[in-house]
Amino acid sequence: MKIVMLGAPGAGKGTQAIKIADKYDIPHISTGDIFRANIKGGTELGQKAKSYIDKGELVPDEVTIGMLLDRIAQDDCKNGYVLDGFPRTIPQAESLTEALKSQGDRIDFALNIDVPDEAIIKRMSGRRACPKCGATYHIVYAAPKTENICDKCGTELIIRSDDKPETVKDRLNVYHQQTEPLIAYYKAAGVLREVDGTQELPKVFEDVVAILSEN
Ligand code: ADP
Ligand code: AMP
Repeated sequence: MKIVMLGAPGAGKGTQAIKIADKYDIPHISTGDIFRANIKGGTELGQKAKSYIDKGELVPDEVTIGMLLDRIAQDDCKNGYVLDGFPRTIPQAESLTEALKSQGDRIDFALNIDVPDEAIIKRMSGRRACPKCGATYHIVYAAPKTENICDKCGTELIIRSDDKPETVKDRLNVYHQQTEPLIAYYKAAGVLREVDGTQELPKVFEDVVAILSEN
């Protein structure tokens, strides 16, 4: 099963994608996590991406598309994957469609996690992330068992540098301009499914599983 997660930054794509990956035993591929790992490791890719990420802008398609296509060509992607944070532009979506088409394949579901901007700002201000395993928490809605420590790997949690309120507003603008058109793109492809992302976390997942059980 090949799944694309759509939705604004902070809508809950990562939270749901991790649960989907676990339930269906497919890799969770987050382009944001790949960039952050490269920044941490001081690679050339990380250096290219950092200035864009810090400003809340998108990393250019020339960098991002090749990176993602290489990742999904790996062996663990044979039975599918859940893409979180890719595609974010129409050229990214077109490249993915073309790459899959050349193998007689396609995306099965594009799940749009719908959350209004006001709720997004609240979520982002309480988000905490594990810099080691990528798990995401919220200080009120999804608190870790021990304050500020990752339940999964015991690492101290951080506030992402791009979760500052000023940057969140820029990221939301970028989302509306460049990423929201993907909803119409995947609707036209017949694979768009809408999910009410304002509900409590387990209910959002229940709705996601009901959709993915369609075929
Ligand atoms: P995205 O991957 O779309 O940027 P995240 O999955 O990191 O978003 O979620 C953003 C924040 O909102 C996190 O702190 C997360 O714990 C919290 N969150 C996710 N889903 C919900 C939900 N349904 N209700 C309340 N908070 C949520
Ligand atoms: P995320 O973790 O998905 O919120 O991504 C964090 C940041 O990484 C984004 O604000 C972008 O700067 C960059 N990024 C992640 N995925 C993409 C993508 N598909 N295209 C361009 N930039 C991306």
